[in-house]
Amino acid sequence: EAKLRGKACTVVFDHAMYTQALRLLQVETDLRRAIEREELCVFYQPIVSLLTGALTGFEALVRWRHPQWGLVSPGEFIPLAEETGLILSLGRWVLHQACDQMRRWQRTLPGTDQLSISVNLSGRQLLQPHLLEQVGEILTDTSLDPQFLRLEITESVLGDYDEAVTILKKLKDLGVDSCIDDFGTGHSSLSRLHRFPIDRLKIDQSFVSQVEHDRESGEIIRTIMSLAQSLHMDVTAEGVETRAQRQLLQSLDCQYAQGFLFSRPLPSAEMEALIQHLPHW
Ligand code: C2E
Ligand code: MG
Ligand code: MG
Ligand code: MG
Repeated sequence: EAKLRGKACTVVFDHAMYTQALRLLQVETDLRRAIEREELCVFYQPIVSLLTGALTGFEALVRWRHPQWGLVSPGEFIPLAEETGLILSLGRWVLHQACDQMRRWQRTLPGTDQLSISVNLSGRQLLQPHLLEQVGEILTDTSLDPQFLRLEITESVLGDYDEAVTILKKLKDLGVDSCIDDFGTGHSSLSRLHRFPIDRLKIDQSFVSQVEHDRESGEIIRTIMSLAQSLHMDVTAEGVETRAQRQLLQSLDCQYAQGFLFSRPLPSAEMEALIQHLPHW
């Protein structure tokens, strides 16, 4: 993959690369304007207790309603946002939006006052200066109690281990818990995991989706469960689509789950309707 690093580095473009570069530039320009044009929106997906079947909160997942391409999933534009630094303003917007929505629901919908909101944070967001002030400001501004916010961080940030630990500790002091997302796919050092100030692991959906078909995925989930138990961490399984997957996770004492079996991520209005007529999970 060729990167433009000024004149010192000569890159020979062929036509395909030229087209690709132009396309990326267009996407970047569009993405830059997406926030101002109010094209971004946040979807919400329920996180359910496997012990009681009760709704415990939501994960906030960003979407882009592009005027030409329609609904664009984050997998398509988050990597570019990270590369260009746009993730900082985008992430701040999502965080504010999600906290504000959670607080509104807590205020207006019966039975939601103890529900929490999980927000994804990229490594670059976590390590930005003034993250703590930003989170504090947003919590104050939206009047959301810090105990109802949880930040999701992927294993890759464990690379910048010492710095990440320091920031996560400060967030915890603020009352905000964190969890490791997509656990099992990165290369986190297990020996360091116990010093990480987090209280939850999220099992990556690739293991959950394979659990009925291959032995290995089941063994990996079992291993993560016992690791979490010895570290006194809770576990959320993501990507739960079938009753069989749910039953297996329950039998392994996995505490929380999220997936199409319960609900797809929904726009706030649709989620609101669901909260008001909660199905029996
Ligand atoms: P993630 O945090 O691991 O989020 C879970 C993904 O799994 C979501 O994809 C969700 O829609 C999908 N999912 C949930 N249940 C099921 C299921 O039962 N089956 C299947 N096949 N998929 C399921 P989505 O919304 O496309 O998001 C993809 C990734 O983009 C997220 O993975 C997260 O890493 C990133 N992302 C999303 N929103 C944000 C954000 O606001 N900021 C940052 N930094 N990253 C975000
Ligand atoms: Mg997540
Ligand atoms: Mg995840
Ligand atoms: Mg995932």
